[in-house]
Amino acid sequence: MGAVNHLATQRAQGLAQLQAQAWDLVVIGGGITGAGVAQQAARRGWKVLLVEQRDFAWGTSSRSSKLVHGGLRYLKEGDIKTTLHSVRERERLMREAPELVQPLSFIYADCKGRKPGRWLMQTGLVLYDLMAGQRSHFYANLERTRTLAPGLNPPQLRGALVFNDAKTDDARLVQRVLMEAQKDGATTLNYVAAQRLTLRDGQVCGLELQDALSGQSYAVRARSVVNATGAWADRLRADLGAKPLLRPLRGSHLLVPHARLPVQHSISMMHVRDGRPVFLYPWEGCTLIGTTDLDHQGDLNVEACITPAEVDYLLEAVNDQFPQANLGRADVISTYAGVRPVVDDGKGDASKATRDHVVKDESGLITLTGGKLTTFRLMAQDALALAAPHAGKPFARDQAVVFTPSTGRPEWSDVVRQRLAARFGYRAAALAAQAPADDLQTIAGTQTLWIELAIAARDEAVVHLDDLLLRRTRLGLLLPRGGLDQIARIQALCEPHLQWGEDGWSAELQRYRALVAAHYSLPRDGARF
Ligand SMILES: Cc1cc2nc3c(=O)[nH]c(=O)nc-3n(C[C@H](O)[C@H](O)[C@H](O)COP(=O)(O)OP(=O)(O)OC[C@H]3O[C@@H](n4cnc5c(N)ncnc54)[C@H](O)[C@@H]3O)c2cc1C
Repeated sequence: MGAVNHLATQRAQGLAQLQAQAWDLVVIGGGITGAGVAQQAARRGWKVLLVEQRDFAWGTSSRSSKLVHGGLRYLKEGDIKTTLHSVRERERLMREAPELVQPLSFIYADCKGRKPGRWLMQTGLVLYDLMAGQRSHFYANLERTRTLAPGLNPPQLRGALVFNDAKTDDARLVQRVLMEAQKDGATTLNYVAAQRLTLRDGQVCGLELQDALSGQSYAVRARSVVNATGAWADRLRADLGAKPLLRPLRGSHLLVPHARLPVQHSISMMHVRDGRPVFLYPWEGCTLIGTTDLDHQGDLNVEACITPAEVDYLLEAVNDQFPQANLGRADVISTYAGVRPVVDDGKGDASKATRDHVVKDESGLITLTGGKLTTFRLMAQDALALAAPHAGKPFARDQAVVFTPSTGRPEWSDVVRQRLAARFGYRAAALAAQAPADDLQTIAGTQTLWIELAIAARDEAVVHLDDLLLRRTRLGLLLPRGGLDQIARIQALCEPHLQWGEDGWSAELQRYRALVAAHYSLPRDGARF
């Protein structure tokens, strides 16, 4: 059987099941929140369906800053609960998925006259460490700061505070959680949208779904429904006449070659202009710079993108900290922006709005939104506590592990083992069995292995080229021109599995070029493509 038939058959089987039964739980939204809910419910033996209107992690969960952090800055807002939960979940993720969630040390330059100063930061860091049950932060004098971060030289630099957090690949984190949910029997379908809710006696009892590829509609029965649609969550709630909850905030990022800003740690700073937090750190062979925090007025159906003013803002922050770097637009490889589902607490300053999540039962629709990547497990349990009576299932919170231990093969080098374990978890050894040595090489200029493309094309529900290059792998962000310089080999590796044919590839290339130009490049660079 051709590989495309394998994927198409899997999808057809999933679609065929939609109406064949009443689901204990339908999860709407295939970001980290939905993936977490599906995983937690499937592990408890619930019959679970998850649907995502576009691609898995297409929403905010592939466009975050990719930090698995406790949220030091939320301490400043007095949000101790969010910080405590996040710190604990960060520690758990680093234990359970060490290849995917990796420690990252942060350096915060202490400059005379700039706020927050050394003592305030240190007080926060003592609390932060206490929450994690460790003592990891310290103050580095000027000499040590210069060794730790060569080139870091904002005006009036006196030294730096150094502390620990963690980083990940957000879209792969979603895939790993989905993989665990599938292992426990969940059905997960991308490119299937929830069109409307079905009500009986004023209570949600199902929903109408639409397959975005065929246009076919399905009436689905559900004992419980979780709305995990992130920044889109108010839309389904509007069907029930509920008042909007969310204030969409846009955060944008730049990626530049690591050689242009060769940091080994994350540099965390407060922007000179307005005191908002900005950071930069080494990610996947590049340096990632982010983020802004602005009210997003754009249409949520259209992917968010960075504005010229945000590019200037981020470059200004970097050049303040690294004056010799003289970083400019010509250095930018790619850009991306995400919209944060922040719960509107009526505060004027966007960066002070709460990052905690909200969970609500409205006529049987359980909405779970806000929050962070880091806390998906706790958020999921909050939602299941409300969904359980509807689903007719017992529910108790627990501390069970989320991730099955990763696997590898004895012939792999440490680098390959670590890489594939991070991305494919317990399936790594099976998915990359008999990989030709050539495919275990990295793609020049990245840390991505060629085999990752083939595995994704064969096994990870890739429908469009952007699914493959922007979310299953991140080549579209890491390489100039969205990675299209490598398209000949990508096509040769993936075509046996995707079987798009020549016309299919040219349609996909056209779509991808337009997407990269409009949403992942410098704002005025569209003309280059
Ligand atoms: C700029 C930025 C930086 C961030 N940085 C961090 C960070 O470093 N660390 C951290 O922990 N958190 C971070 N966050 C927060 C974190 O990314 C989000 O809280 C998280 O990704 C939200 O996940 P989600 O699943 O709720 O939403 P999403 O990932 O947006 O998923 C919702 C999904 O629902 C789908 N959907 C919508 N409507 C429907 C429908 N009708 N039918 C089917 N599917 C539908 C959408 O297509 C979307 O894919 C950041 C957020 C932003 C914006």
